Amino acid sequence: MDSDIIIVGGGPAGLAFARQFKGSSLKITVIEKASEETLSNPAYDGREIALTHLSAEIMQKLGMWQRIPENEIYRLRDAKVYNGTSDYTLHFKEPTRARGGETDRLGHLISNHNIRRAAYEEAAALDNVVLRCGIGVKNVKTDNEAARVELENGEILTAKLLVCADSRFSQTRRQLGIAADMHDFGRTVLVFRTKHTISNQHTASECFFYGRTLALLPLEEHLTNCVITIANTKAHELLSLTPDELAKEAEQMLGGKLGSMEAAGTVHSYPLVGVHAKKFYGTRCALIGDAAVGMHPVTAHGYNLGLESTDILAKLILKAEQRGKDIGATSLLEEYNFKHQLHTRPLYHGTNAMVRFFTTDSAPVKLLRGAALRLSNNLPPLKNLISRQLTG
Ligand SMILES: Cc1cc2nc3c(=O)[nH]c(=O)nc-3n(C[C@H](O)[C@H](O)[C@H](O)COP(=O)(O)OP(=O)(O)OC[C@H]3O[C@@H](n4cnc5c(N)ncnc54)[C@H](O)[C@@H]3O)c2cc1C
Repeated sequence: MDSDIIIVGGGPAGLAFARQFKGSSLKITVIEKASEETLSNPAYDGREIALTHLSAEIMQKLGMWQRIPENEIYRLRDAKVYNGTSDYTLHFKEPTRARGGETDRLGHLISNHNIRRAAYEEAAALDNVVLRCGIGVKNVKTDNEAARVELENGEILTAKLLVCADSRFSQTRRQLGIAADMHDFGRTVLVFRTKHTISNQHTASECFFYGRTLALLPLEEHLTNCVITIANTKAHELLSLTPDELAKEAEQMLGGKLGSMEAAGTVHSYPLVGVHAKKFYGTRCALIGDAAVGMHPVTAHGYNLGLESTDILAKLILKAEQRGKDIGATSLLEEYNFKHQLHTRPLYHGTNAMVRFFTTDSAPVKLLRGAALRLSNNLPPLKNLISRQLTG
């Protein structure tokens, strides 16, 4: 065997997974089609990732957290949900205690390129991790004996276990014959930073306006990341605007809640497609990160679940290795599948149902939405349940 584990995809999930094996005797190979230069110095991509306290703990354990400049870990104090043009909000306030300690925040915000850089630096520093960059995977096959990976140059690599971390559109998942629920929302997400004259109070807002939604992610008090989701048929209208015109559009949508707004960077767009694999394993292979679950960004779960997947699977592998057992055994992979599906399946379907509810603009549903916000605000057990799901 060339390696113990081959990971396809050196994104934030694949690299964090590789880092989990620091200090072990396992030999890991990561195959990433982007160049090493792109991985070591990733460009800003407009995504500000909301991270739960659990994700912060995992990133600290992996040394990734310590590699993010302190002034670029932003505080997410609390969060509000708006329905249409009403000022009534469902308000999640900062908890004073979370995961056993004092805290001044619901969660944290970190730019995706900073997370990617930190994951690369940690993985690249390990002697037992080999990064093969600038080459894609052409085909994968597994059987009871081994996993075989064919690279684009025809080279064949073998391992005891193949781990697919090649995005929500995972080609390896398809090649392994693992079925997935895919939902195209028919919408596009536009992300961009704005500067504004009124403080955001470190509060995230999700504004379900009719026809489009606007999420506000507070970075500094006068610096906010705007996330607009809009039907694909209308997206070109917004994408043809200059960044400053788009900031003015956001200002208008908000009715001036953040005062005068101007662009503070480039505009990026993403298609909105959700994915949940029917199972997260096959013979000598497992799915992690977005290749397992690609979430709608509204509840900000994507990378949080990706980190959890790396943590659950790595713990099982390390335990098997210590006991001299097969790290690609079906029973191990079944246990990973059971644990990760238990958490992700209800979240995935719950999030999609919530998105449908908040983006259906018939009169009765609009009324029901207002009632749902009031009910959630006034029923502490329900509100706590939602809050726990959001903050991990
Ligand atoms: C607008 C937006 C906002 C978001 N906000 C949040 C948030 O607030 N909180 C949160 O937790 N998550 C959020 N997410 C989700 C988060 O960005 C993803 O969950 C995360 O990036 C997934 O990481 P990954 O490594 O699984 O996949 P990716 O980042 O997609 O990386 C996959 C890697 O695999 C490589 N690859 C693909 N195919 C091959 C191949 N054949 N051979 C070799 N390499 C290959 C690619 O080059 C890439 O580097 C957001 C996403 C979007 C789009």
